[in-house]
Amino acid sequence: MKLGIVGLPNVGKSTLFNAITKAGAESANYPFCTIEPNVGVVSVPDKRLDVLQQMYDSKKLVPTAIEFYDIAGLVKGASKGEGLGNKFLSHIREVAAIVHVVRCFEDQNIVHVEGTVGPLRDIETINLELIFSDLEVIERRIQKTQKMVKSDKSAQAELDLLNLIKDTLEGGKSVRALDLSTEEQEFVKSFGLLSYKPIIYVANVSEEDLLENNGDNSLVQQVREHAKCENAEVVVVCAKIESEISELDDSEKLEFLQEIGLEESGLDRLIKAGYKLLGLISFLTAGPQEVRAWTIRKGTKAPQAAGKIHSDIERGFIRAEVIAYDELVAAGSINAAKDKGLLRLEGKEYEVKDGDVILFRFNV
Ligand code: GDP
Repeated sequence: MKLGIVGLPNVGKSTLFNAITKAGAESANYPFCTIEPNVGVVSVPDKRLDVLQQMYDSKKLVPTAIEFYDIAGLVKGASKGEGLGNKFLSHIREVAAIVHVVRCFEDQNIVHVEGTVGPLRDIETINLELIFSDLEVIERRIQKTQKMVKSDKSAQAELDLLNLIKDTLEGGKSVRALDLSTEEQEFVKSFGLLSYKPIIYVANVSEEDLLENNGDNSLVQQVREHAKCENAEVVVVCAKIESEISELDDSEKLEFLQEIGLEESGLDRLIKAGYKLLGLISFLTAGPQEVRAWTIRKGTKAPQAAGKIHSDIERGFIRAEVIAYDELVAAGSINAAKDKGLLRLEGKEYEVKDGDVILFRFNV
């Protein structure tokens, strides 16, 4: 479940990606993660872990992590195979969601590929490449479905939807902008369309803009307007400041952020937004050895969540002892929570919630 970073040249992708790799998570904890130069693994910030570590007096704290994939090399004409075009598009196909970095900083010394800074034009340039690629997919699909309709009238609804998608794409819009029913969404997801992948726009602003107006300049406003049409989120960062922050240790980082009047770094906001965009949630385990966050997809049942820890626990699953993080904190300790009868015993069908603190019981 990787997020792919895309954007035109000179918008600040590498600067942001460097911040990601420097802030990188301790890889020993994340054996599932790929080790490639263009993949960065970062911890997902979760203040709940600090609170639990104190409560349990745990030796170790292990946050969960997500991966960012640096997909450089997009130029105009990629969908026609120019530049690294096709390779670039196939990389986007592999990621679960897109982080689109858009330049919202003016700097005479840094050339813009189009001559001037224009976030809407930049967004359109990249989106059009994805749209062209999707059009090819949809046109092939339409041909197939037209044949099907001749013998099977029930395929007509599918064909109508495909034509609607085609019209949308031909109008220069991403499929993301369409208002679809849940059933249609599932159907459309199965095509792997690039312009249907969940997206976050990262507005990269100058140091001055970030410090003076919280980054909200007129260029960022344009990005926000656009994102609204696609139900997408915008995260404002200053990549340069992020790369400086990533050099600092935790206490220095806190001090620096306080100094510039921010609660959280842009990177941390981006990581959280990315996690949410992927439909991921965390459940927590806590004990004197370690407190730890585990990533699952929303909707995961207790045994499968247990399987994230170890396949043996999933296989021998008996039940889960669960308490919501907020309730645990309100009770003050796990024993106090037990005394108050707040600990729930949940079975195989229980759907794990974000922030559940869980102890699994299992047969060995
Ligand atoms: P990429 O081609 O998208 O990977 O862009 P880079 O990360 O290489 O950035 C291009 C240039 O813009 C570099 O000289 C960066 O130092 C500069 N740059 C990136 N982010 C910022 C920023 O937030 N503020 C300013 N002033 N310059 C930036």
